[in-house]
Amino acid sequence: MSGSERGASKTITHAQNYRAPRSSWKLAILIPALWFAVTLAAGNRQSDWAQAGQFVACGEYVRAPSEHMREVVSAIDDVWDAHVKVYESVAVRPPHARRGGCVMYNSTYMKALLQDLLVRDRNAAEYMLYAIMAHEVGHELHDDFSPARAEVSGMTKELEADRFAGYTLELLNIGLDSVTPYYSLAGDEFTGAIGRPSSHGDSMRRTAALRTGWEHAEWNQPEDYQSLSPGD
Ligand SMILES: [Zn+2]
Repeated sequence: MSGSERGASKTITHAQNYRAPRSSWKLAILIPALWFAVTLAAGNRQSDWAQAGQFVACGEYVRAPSEHMREVVSAIDDVWDAHVKVYESVAVRPPHARRGGCVMYNSTYMKALLQDLLVRDRNAAEYMLYAIMAHEVGHELHDDFSPARAEVSGMTKELEADRFAGYTLELLNIGLDSVTPYYSLAGDEFTGAIGRPSSHGDSMRRTAALRTGWEHAEWNQPEDYQSLSPGD
């Protein structure tokens, strides 16, 4: 048998063995229809999100930050070359940092917080935004979400972030006089923790940490000049 004859017989055999499934025409309609329906549903969901400007960043539903908050965080970021990303939380919740290099705020929450604190002076309100967001950037630069920091207590992390905030404010030429009265009252409002296990004593320690950081910067000491001792 020659090569061409073998080829011809194979072709015939294949054609003889082939039986088209009876329902193939139904599948031919059903599969594209299903595909179309699923694509349409997914598309609708995506466009709902897109319309609301929402997406997921660092595991949270967010939207793009306001131009103002972008400026605030980018000024802090420039001091440290931190490459932190800022987003607005969709949920009305306190500002916080998240694993993955994100700092979050919610404009409704921020507005209510500054109102609650009776921050009426525009400059003071602006400086508080810097202090709060610098605190959150501090959590990122201290790598507080890493396993290496797992043994460090929550309070120490908060105080170190406060000290970082003070240090940053000095580098940005922002004095503490208009910040500290509100910072101490804010207590645990922006620790990033869920719940508010705040006490006045903690608030005083936080303000002291803020001032310590500011002084370290003023004296050109490194930000982590000394780790916090229980007396700080
Ligand atoms: Zn915090």
